[in-house]
Amino acid sequence: MTATVPHVSPLEKAARGERLNAAEIEALYHLPLPDVAAVAHDLRMQRRDPDTVSFLIDRNINYTNVCNVGCNFCAFYRTKRQADSYTLDYEHISRKITELEQEGGTRILLQGGVNPDLGLDYYTGMLRHVKAHHPTIRIDAFSPEEVLFMEKTFGLTLDELLDTLMEAGLDGLPGAGGEILEDDVRKKAAPARIRAADWFRIQDAAQRKGLYTISTMVIGFGETYAQRANHLLKIREQQDKALRDYAGNGFAGFAMWTLQTENTRLHGKAPGATAHEYLQQLAIARIALDNVPNIQTSWPAQGFKVAQAALYYGANDLGSTMLEENVVSAAGGHDRHRATVRELIRIAVDAGFTPVIRNSRFEIIERPDAEAILNRRDENPEAERAVGAGA
Ligand code: SF4
Repeated sequence: MTATVPHVSPLEKAARGERLNAAEIEALYHLPLPDVAAVAHDLRMQRRDPDTVSFLIDRNINYTNVCNVGCNFCAFYRTKRQADSYTLDYEHISRKITELEQEGGTRILLQGGVNPDLGLDYYTGMLRHVKAHHPTIRIDAFSPEEVLFMEKTFGLTLDELLDTLMEAGLDGLPGAGGEILEDDVRKKAAPARIRAADWFRIQDAAQRKGLYTISTMVIGFGETYAQRANHLLKIREQQDKALRDYAGNGFAGFAMWTLQTENTRLHGKAPGATAHEYLQQLAIARIALDNVPNIQTSWPAQGFKVAQAALYYGANDLGSTMLEENVVSAAGGHDRHRATVRELIRIAVDAGFTPVIRNSRFEIIERPDAEAILNRRDENPEAERAVGAGA
């Protein structure tokens, strides 16, 4: 008599903590979203503190909008001849950081276009200036696209370049430029964009050197489910390697959002993604990325309400207050491009979680008195911080 092999669905496997293969991850896209979400949320509650939702107080600073990569989905970049092109001087950057410090911020995300007129001295000088004037601020700077430009332009190996930037003050890399890490998708959306292999090569070197890194995903280019599943598998594979070979220094988290196409050449050509698709993809990411602890939702692209719903689709983190966002907002985004501490606290509390403020490595640095902050009538953000400080 032949024994029958019981069929185990991908969701059952995932719920038992087993790793899914590519076909199983792809199958999740065809299952009812409430079922997928239930497993994703259970895994989130097991893998992270079930009581808390975290966020960071930080600021995006885009030091230049001049860029010669010309991605079809980007409404932020300018050529140097355009009247509204800019490159910030160090004092201007410093003033922005002072504003962040006044609001209790701890990290800047410093990134810009690929500006061929900038020399290595501009980058190292910027890092040194920030560290000298703002010693408590962490600097996560230069996406893999910018690092690739520097590597090609300044005659240094990747290792030498990262050593030089770290010596000047670099603490980590942003995860920008991930989008869909499948070159067929990338070539159509942005022919000159950094290829997937280079994105991973640069993240790998950064992880080997102990730098902070984060993985990202953007959906809505018209990519297939198989390409989305492959994107997740490549991140999972890199994370396995980093956790094994680099003393646990892998991606600190995974952040995802939907493509915004307003004011871009992809407007009307790329399908984008609905809230349903976003939440589905987030839940699948939580299930597939069994080695990435923190899954972050994106209120600048999805809005506060979808970001709040995402807390029941696998997300345990609300990203950051941001103070300033220029890239997603240039292409549409949602109606808000900064959030106050109070707003993020309200999202977490109303969803049934305790809000905590973290640093960029997802370590909790403050447990704000949410009740006091929410009951306060004063809308002044600085007063808001005063109530929250030290609790
Ligand atoms: S996304 Fe980045 S690399 Fe692409 S055009 Fe915009 S600024 Fe340049």
